[in-house]
Amino acid sequence: MAVTALAGGVGAAKFLRGLLATVSAAEVTVIGNTGDDAVFHGLHVSPDLDIVTYTLGGIVDATKGWGVAGDTRNALDQLGRLGIDTWFWLGDKDFGTHIARTMWLAEGVALSAIAERIRVALGVGARILPMSDDQVRTRFVTTAGTELEFQDYFVRHHHAEEIASVSFEGAAAARPAPGVVEAIEQAERVIICPSNPVVSIGPILAVPGIREALRSARHKVVAVSPIVEGAALRGPAARLLPVVGAEASASGVAGLYADICATFVVDRRDAGEVARIEALGLRPVLLETVMETPDVAAALAKEILALDLDG
Ligand code: GDP
Ligand code: CA
Repeated sequence: MAVTALAGGVGAAKFLRGLLATVSAAEVTVIGNTGDDAVFHGLHVSPDLDIVTYTLGGIVDATKGWGVAGDTRNALDQLGRLGIDTWFWLGDKDFGTHIARTMWLAEGVALSAIAERIRVALGVGARILPMSDDQVRTRFVTTAGTELEFQDYFVRHHHAEEIASVSFEGAAAARPAPGVVEAIEQAERVIICPSNPVVSIGPILAVPGIREALRSARHKVVAVSPIVEGAALRGPAARLLPVVGAEASASGVAGLYADICATFVVDRRDAGEVARIEALGLRPVLLETVMETPDVAAALAKEILALDLDG
């Protein structure tokens, strides 16, 4: 079965690893968020694409959920000795990825072609496409009126600042990367991974053409709630949902996706949300979604693929 998945970082990667236990990698296309991309030490870093690539390539640091397992920090320490601020953790092997990406970008290679080179070189069978080859940057304004770039908010300030607004700079003029719309149109099933709806899935949907493609494909789109019992399993999703006018609940997320997916997977702990999701015009499906082990992720993916979307 051809499957296309919209993905952020860690939440998505856990799910995708489970998906690949059921579907052959050649049938899977991942559409990744690049709103988190940033330049550090002159290098273009694509955190969400790399999390997915490293996870599917089997080299991710499983404890952190990002970075390369067992990576060292010699380059970062040397930068620190040179007086450079090193609050953003980058391991030595990881630096290699960013050097290659930056070098290829300077040669004029598109981000999507670079993502393809990297995933092939790292032995990842699934296709990984950035949402766009054009630059889109997630930015925040705090309630105190301070503007923050994504990694400033997320990493430097440990997403502790209270946020008044989120925007995706460049999104209005961005085009979907080659293959993105086709991957949505041609898939038998499209899955919106359990990722942050505001800052992981939000930037993807902000690229003109992607939301429209999903709307047309709505009957075959299944979303998985990243919110369980009113809380995010990690990260600031529960605090960011109200910023975009949504409640921090599974049905709050369902409301954001009501026009683009017909089926909405909620955690079995959230049976109380079912009626509210139905009232939004979505078909709720209760499953175990807390992916504490790869087996849970694989079972979740298997159940989603087995759903009869006409039923
Ligand atoms: P990031 O880009 O690394 O922040 O990762 P994502 O946006 O892909 O994922 C973050 C979201 O995934 C958070 O809202 C978490 O609540 C959610 N999440 C993480 N692990 C799980 C899980 O095991 N099950 C579910 N349902 N959601 C999860
Ligand atoms: Ca991210």
